[in-house]
Formats: sequence, C-alpha cells, structure tokens
Amino acid sequence: MQLTFWGAAQTVTGSMHQLSLNGSRSLLDCGLYQGHRQEARERNASLPFPAKSIASVLVSHAHIDHTGNLPTLVKGGFAGPIVASPATIDLCKYMLTDSAHLQEKDAEFMAKRNTRRRALGDHDTPEIVEPLYSVEDAERTLPLFQSAAQRQPRQIAPGLSYCSYDAGHMLGSTAMVLSLEEKGRKLTLAFSGDVGRCHLPITRDPEPLPPCDYLIMESTYGNRFHDPIGAVGDKLADTIVRTLKRGGKLIVPAFAVGRTQELVFLLHELIDAEKIPEFPIFVDSPLAVNTTAVFRKHTELFDDETKALAAKDGDPFALKMLRFITDVSESKALNDSRMPCMIISASGMCEAGRILHHLRNNISNPKNTILITGFMAENTLGRKLVDKLPEVSIFGELLPVRAEVVKLNELSGHADQRELLDWMEPITHGLKRVFLVHGEPVAQAAMCQAIQERYKLPVTIPARGQSVVLE
Ligand SMILES: [Zn+2]
Repeated sequence: MQLTFWGAAQTVTGSMHQLSLNGSRSLLDCGLYQGHRQEARERNASLPFPAKSIASVLVSHAHIDHTGNLPTLVKGGFAGPIVASPATIDLCKYMLTDSAHLQEKDAEFMAKRNTRRRALGDHDTPEIVEPLYSVEDAERTLPLFQSAAQRQPRQIAPGLSYCSYDAGHMLGSTAMVLSLEEKGRKLTLAFSGDVGRCHLPITRDPEPLPPCDYLIMESTYGNRFHDPIGAVGDKLADTIVRTLKRGGKLIVPAFAVGRTQELVFLLHELIDAEKIPEFPIFVDSPLAVNTTAVFRKHTELFDDETKALAAKDGDPFALKMLRFITDVSESKALNDSRMPCMIISASGMCEAGRILHHLRNNISNPKNTILITGFMAENTLGRKLVDKLPEVSIFGELLPVRAEVVKLNELSGHADQRELLDWMEPITHGLKRVFLVHGEPVAQAAMCQAIQERYKLPVTIPARGQSVVLE
C-alpha cells in the first residue's frame, strides 16, 4: 500500500494523489495545475505515470483543480471508471467541456504568438500548438463517470472500498474514506478533498468522518481565521449601498460554479429583507448559466435555509432584475453602459475570461468597487488586487487601481485553521499520520504546528512526487 503525491503538493492546485494497492493504481482526483502558462502546460501534459496504468479515479468534487486533467488522462489511454457524486458528474459535463474550450483557445493564442515570433526570425517556436486536450477528449471522458451516492460503501477494485461524505465545500463535494486490504493487512485512509465551512449559503455543513488510520487533508487556509459568516450579508449590503450611492458599478470576479450561485442566493435574501434595493445584476458567464441549472436540479443537497427560500419564492437563483448573459455582444454592451449595476463574471482569480474586460473598463474609476469573494492564488491578478497594488497590468496595459477593493473573507469555500482542526477531530482517534496537501507552504507550516499542538500527531507535508508506504 503506497501513496504518491503528484499534485497540490506544497501548492493549491492540480490535486492528484496516487494509491497503489494489490498491483493496481488508483488516483484520488485528477486536477488541473494552474500557474505560469508554460510551466502549467508542461506539467499538465506530461503525466508522471502511463495513463493506461491507472485502473480508476475517485473524484472529490467538480472544481477544475480537482477534475480538470481527467481529459488528459483519457487522451493518454485511461478507460477505467471515474467515481464521483451525481451532482459532481452533472457539473463536470459543463466544466470539462468549458475547460477544453479554454485549452483550445489557449493553443490558438500561442500559435498566433509563435507566428509573430517566427516572422521576427525566431524559428525555434513551433507553428502548430496542440491544445492540452480538445472538446472531443472532454466528451470522451464523460461516459467514464460512475455515480456514487454518499455514505454507501462501494467496491472499486480488489481490496479497495470507497465511501463518500458531504464535504460542504460546493454542490456535490465529498470527502472520502477508503478501506484498503492487501495481503491480509487492513487500513483506512481518509481524503478530505476541499473542506467547506459551516453555515455557507446553499450547501450543507461538512459531515464528520469516522476514525481512520491515515488522513490526507487540505490546508488552503491553514494559517488563517475567517470572519464569522453571519456578518457576510450586512457587509455585502453595505458595500452595495455605498457603491450605488456613488453611482458606481460593482465588479465581482467569481467562480462560475459555486461562488456565483452563493452570491445570487445572498442577493436574493438581501432583497427579500429589503437591505438592498432591486438593482441590475448581470451574471456574465455562459458556464454559470448551465451550472446554475445543475444547482436547480439538485435541491436534495440544499441546506435548510435554501430549501426554505425555494419553498417561499420558488427558484432561489432567480431575481426580477438579474440577467444571465451568454452572448458576447451583450457582454460587450455592458462596457458601454454607465448604469450602476453589479457584474458577476469569471474567471474567479481574474486570470482569463470576460472578467478581464470588465476589470479593464472599471478598475480606474473611484466610483466603482471590485468585490473579491474567494481565494486568490499567488501570482494571479486577483491576488494583486487583494494585495492592493496601486497599478496592475491587464491585456498588457498598466492601469491604476482607483476603484474601491473590498474582500469578503467570510464567503470562503474553505475551512480556516480552527474549522479544519474541528473537522478532523472525529478522525483522530487512532490516527497514525496526517498528510497535508492543497496549501501554500506558509499555510501548511501553520496547520502542521496547530495539529501537532492540539492532537500530538505526526504530520507530513509531502513534496511533489514523494511516496509513502502505508503500514
Ligand atoms: Zn474546490
């Protein structure tokens, strides 16, 4: 029984861990590594094992840093089952295809850039750039998904049984407990996936897991303490009212899946409570339109608050003055409009997509507000905004940041240090070791220390490619 950490090892993206058991290999997640373009491309394209050598993949949730490299695996010849929750599978239908479109566009962009460089005499750049994977690869991935209901143990391979629990991180997100058996030896291994927060909008709270021998746990906010979630509505309302009074726009970078729906839900509650007026709200993301439909379908996963709102008003994601925009021309028309409004758009970390146009057009106007609602990884434009840099580069143009920048820490989909410590408590009885993944080094160091202090447990922060024998 051996674990090898191939991704989200001392970083926050590209979640992928390999479990070797009875001569068979399974992956826990197969996420896209996101970082500098060239490095990310190389790392995602060259899997550290033959794709065909993998027998199965167990997926924690639909976020692209946990699923986004599945099509590369399939392109390489993987044909085994990909086990996930029903909502994760429904979301992946749209998210993997969307990711493939982005890969194709990225390849086109690089080919054009290379043409320019070749014209200038640089003949080392290739003429044709192949995308990491195509829409066809993504479509070939989808039939491999197998749906697994929560808390129902399921045999995956000889000696490998899987059982999932609600992780409270996004719609359909799971943590999993794997029961392993090899040569008469039995062990249990828990994998947290991403752990959510209690009282987040829409999703239910993270479920407790049973005691296990080993735990692989995320540590995104291992060095942080979030503000209490109860204050988020008032803070959001204050920010909206203040911006509208100035006659400004609110530009909100948000993941199309999860954060966008949470924001719409919160706006719905605030309007119902008359804490904010009805005002024009645009969700400018084709992916958000399709995935919001998945949210509407999986009402069984809603928490009580969302069920209550749905019972009272019908669709929790519909508002009188809310428009979902898919059309590019409508998206561009927002640039010319001077009307105070809120524009929610992706990508969540401001690295690509329509949000860049909205930021370019609005970032230098002090009437406007940039509302940050999620985690921003190092080196992203979103992180530069959080860090309040006086100017930022968008599409190669240096722009002064004059808009107000507000951060809603409360909405984080990830548990903070205290919440992670509490979440892991039931697992710790008999726990032999914790492996910390999915965190930047400073967060992991703090989380490691906190676990050692509270639970006196050995902790490993594995490096990429590090293997550990489970015994
Ligand atoms: Zn996630």
